[in-house]
Amino acid sequence: MKRFAVRLLSMTLALLIASNSFAEEKIKALILDGQNNHNWKVTTPILKKILEDTGKFSVEVATAPAKGPEVATFRPKFSNYQVVVSNYNGQDWSKETQNDLVEFVKNGGGFVPVHAANNAFPAWAEYNEIIGIGGWGGRSEKSGPYVRLKDGKFVNDMTPGKGGSHGKQHEFVVVTRNTEHPITKGLPAEWLHNTDELYDRLRGPAKNLTVLATAYADPKTGGSGEHEPMLMVLDYGKGRIFHTTLGHAEPAMKCIGFEVTFARGTEWAATGKVTLNTIPANFPKADKVSIR
Ligand code: ZN
Repeated sequence: MKRFAVRLLSMTLALLIASNSFAEEKIKALILDGQNNHNWKVTTPILKKILEDTGKFSVEVATAPAKGPEVATFRPKFSNYQVVVSNYNGQDWSKETQNDLVEFVKNGGGFVPVHAANNAFPAWAEYNEIIGIGGWGGRSEKSGPYVRLKDGKFVNDMTPGKGGSHGKQHEFVVVTRNTEHPITKGLPAEWLHNTDELYDRLRGPAKNLTVLATAYADPKTGGSGEHEPMLMVLDYGKGRIFHTTLGHAEPAMKCIGFEVTFARGTEWAATGKVTLNTIPANFPKADKVSIR
């Protein structure tokens, strides 16, 4: 009996070793939530599923305590992950947690702010450098320039004015502006995004920032009349940032265009590469939305 138990144990061990060595190493991702003026209880599971469905990620969630002094205890171990996705827009974290995030990105960690994550922390200088541009929370020309498309080039515009606004929600066309970057390579030149808030007039330090895709914020729907940055990448220290302004709520996140760009962007932020190269046949067209 004892011999049988030993054999069973060694067989189990061999199997475990084999299965581990054959399994592809997954990208470790962490999603932050717990406070947001958006419905994070609905949207975090969608973000998690988009990443997991690619088969490339193992995803964990760190939920900050609800608004109150307890938030001071929120201190996820960022360094245990390759990429941190933020679905957080709420109270300031402790100085330690803020420093942890800055060090994590500086040392090569990936960061992916989604939609209202760029509303967070208006007074935290390093965070604003990491996200590039953001909105609300008193942001103004003091926060940095607008990023504007002028004569085919993106320029920093110091015109005074508020940072962050949006018109009413609607379907809108996302225009690919960078066809060489791994995140947007191979995507259609234009695709119709499902109903979302079109963030406009964002402003911030905008250092080391490359705009990958824009959308026209039509004054008819309450927009700025500018081609606004929707998808961006940045460098901060050794870290890579993919910033998507898309994703107000469930309809926006069910858009195949959101799914593909979010998954590719998160992979790129984590590894500097995009292996999720296949554009699905149901990707939205210039005049036709496509949702899950
Ligand atoms: Zn929103």
